[in-house]
Amino acid sequence: MTAPSSVPPEFMQTLRRDGINNEDVLSAIRSTPRHRFVQGHFRSRAYENRPLPIACGQTISQPTIVGIMTQALEVGPRHKVLEVGTGSGYQTAILSRLARRVYTIERHPDLMRDACLVFDELRLSNITAVVGDGSLGIAEQAPFDRIIVTAAAEDTPATLLAQLVTGGVMVVPVGQTDDIQRLIKVVMTEQGPDYQELEYVRFVPLLSGVSEARNG
Ligand code: SAH
Repeated sequence: MTAPSSVPPEFMQTLRRDGINNEDVLSAIRSTPRHRFVQGHFRSRAYENRPLPIACGQTISQPTIVGIMTQALEVGPRHKVLEVGTGSGYQTAILSRLARRVYTIERHPDLMRDACLVFDELRLSNITAVVGDGSLGIAEQAPFDRIIVTAAAEDTPATLLAQLVTGGVMVVPVGQTDDIQRLIKVVMTEQGPDYQELEYVRFVPLLSGVSEARNG
């Protein structure tokens, strides 16, 4: 089977069936070719509703989870968004169609290089890519209107919460084990953070520091 050249209608139907009903989010997903963010023979499987392997032992998230997280984040056209864990860049590209600007951080330089090539090919010009430890956020660009973490933290990261504007939203998978985590939506109210529990999910762990490994 060869790679599809555009996003198939069945893929969009699956997302709707799984509860993604925000038309802006659906439109951002429809205009983002997932097959461009995976390599080799995985391209032909890009429109299956599954996570897939990418370089450096990481994964591109399951499409339904990308949709649920993006919808929960309630991104608007004036928002400055921080994304921790660029990975393939697929989620970043979707956010870039909804937000004013997306700052995205990845600890693997090789993954960031590949993601930036695709951003250029798709002419996404409102993404600022940073190689570094995303658990520290980007203090000099704070506060952010929205923060999304696409790797699992043991607890809601306090450093990132401190970079969220009052009225802002953060979505983060939280769990003490690698097996099971809960997606948490945090709304920063005047009185402090308000936590809501969403789906059970499974993400790669949020690690500290920048990867030193070659090809790793
Ligand atoms: N949304 C991405 C998910 C990639 S997996 C996609 O769909 O492609 C999560 C990514 O988080 C991995 O690439 C991993 O290297 C990265 N990551 C883990 N801990 C990190 C940290 N502290 N700072 C930045 N990136 C981190």
